[in-house]
Amino acid sequence: MSKDHLLKGEKLQCRVIPVTWARQNCAVLWCLETRKAVIVDPGGDIDLLLRIIDEEQIDVERLLITHPHPDHAGAAADLADLLEVAIEGPNRGDESLIRRMSRMGEHLGFYECSPFVPNRWLEDEDKIEFGHRTLVALHCPGHTAGHMAYFSPEARIAFVGDILFKGAVGATATPRDHLELLRSIRLKLLPLGDDVLFVPGHEMLSTFGEERRNNHAVSDVAAEKYDHFFDDPRFTRGS
Ligand SMILES: [Zn+2]
Repeated sequence: MSKDHLLKGEKLQCRVIPVTWARQNCAVLWCLETRKAVIVDPGGDIDLLLRIIDEEQIDVERLLITHPHPDHAGAAADLADLLEVAIEGPNRGDESLIRRMSRMGEHLGFYECSPFVPNRWLEDEDKIEFGHRTLVALHCPGHTAGHMAYFSPEARIAFVGDILFKGAVGATATPRDHLELLRSIRLKLLPLGDDVLFVPGHEMLSTFGEERRNNHAVSDVAAEKYDHFFDDPRFTRGS
């Protein structure tokens, strides 16, 4: 998927908007009853996001960050200032990465990339409310140490950043991080249910059921080779 995409739920609506040259899937979500909204991963293209806020006549209450890579969080500081809203997430495990984000952004050609400090660091199972809707935050380390995913139990949709993709998994720096990533996917994300639709940080949407069946890295068949490592503290940090 590379164009703006509207997901119509009965109570929650969502527009997925690829932003920056990296076509990162920024998501604007709102409660249909109150039009209170949150934005997940405002990586860039602030003018486009402001236009969508205006078009949908929604009231953004906060920005949520999955992890502080420039394509995901580059525009968070500037957009939070403009909208006068708080930034929430990621987990404190990404604190040092946030400090390095602007420099990384310049290096990679993300010109809207201002440093930020979250108003709230998120922990596993923290709740985020907007209007009558609630998202659950899930700490899913691996791609970064403080990576968060956001899940709507009611709408059966998850926003997973760079943890999991359709047919692939996120990049990691070391084999241990890779195992941590697999652990996050197998023990935190897939148990949410095969029916759950997920919005990855890039490219096309999929469901957890589809990945459980067909993803070469995290399918039930693939996991038989490594899931015994998950309880072994020598190989994973846990969370
Ligand atoms: Zn990333």
